[in-house]
Amino acid sequence: MKIILLGAPGSGKGTQAKLISENFNIPHISTGDIFRFNIIQKTTLGIQAEAFINKGELVPDSITVSMIKDRMNEEDCSNGFILDGFPRNISQAKSLNDILEEKGQRIDKVLFFDVPEYIIIERVVGRKVCKNCGAVFHSKFKPSKAYNKCDLCGGDLIQRKDDNEEIIKNRMEVYISSIQPLLDYYGNGGPLLVVNGYGDIKDIYRSVEKALIPI
Ligand code: AMP
Repeated sequence: MKIILLGAPGSGKGTQAKLISENFNIPHISTGDIFRFNIIQKTTLGIQAEAFINKGELVPDSITVSMIKDRMNEEDCSNGFILDGFPRNISQAKSLNDILEEKGQRIDKVLFFDVPEYIIIERVVGRKVCKNCGAVFHSKFKPSKAYNKCDLCGGDLIQRKDDNEEIIKNRMEVYISSIQPLLDYYGNGGPLLVVNGYGDIKDIYRSVEKALIPI
C-alpha cells in the first residue's frame, strides 16, 4: 500500500507512521528524518538543507524531490511505503505523481490528521527526540522513564532546534499556506481521508486502521 500522511508539524503523523510501518510491514519515509540524519552526518545534502530547516523554511523542491526519488527507488519500497512530510506543496505532489506514473503506480490512501492549532503548539514545544535513534518523547504526553534518556537505546533526549516557539510559528505559517491546496489536490473524489488526530495514540491508530482497511 502506498500511503501519504498529511498534517501539521506535531500532528502525530510520525508516531502513527511508525505504527503503520510495523503493522503493514512497509517503510516509513520521513523527509524530515532523512534531512536530520544527513545534517548529523554532514553530507552535502545535510549542508544544503540545514539553513532552511533551522529557519523553519522548506528545503527547495529540487533538493527534496531528488532525495525522495532516490529513496523510492530502493528495494524496500517495492511493496509500498508511508510518506511522512512529503509532499509539502502542490509542486512536490505533482513531481510525486510523475515519479509513480513512470513506474505505473499511484497513491492508494492519503490520510490527513486533523488537530486544533493550540494543541499542535503544546505538542511541539514539549517534544524531545533521541539524539541516537530518533525516537520521539514528550515531557507531558509521553515522558521517558529516565529523565532525558531514551527508553529504547539510552541515548540523550534533545529538543529539535526547529521545535522552539519562534521557529514553530514560522513552520505553522508555511504549513497553513500549503495544506489547503494539498487537501484539494487529493480530495474531490481522490484518495483523501480525514482522521481525527487528537486523543490517545492507540485510539488514533484504530481510526487510521479503519481508514486504511475499510470493513
Ligand atoms: P518535519 O520533521 O517533517 O517537521 O520536517 C522538518 C523540516 O525539514 C521542515 O520544517 C523543512 O524545513 C524540512 N522538510 C521536511 N520535509 C520537507 C519537504 N517535503 N519539503 C521541503 N522541506 C521539508
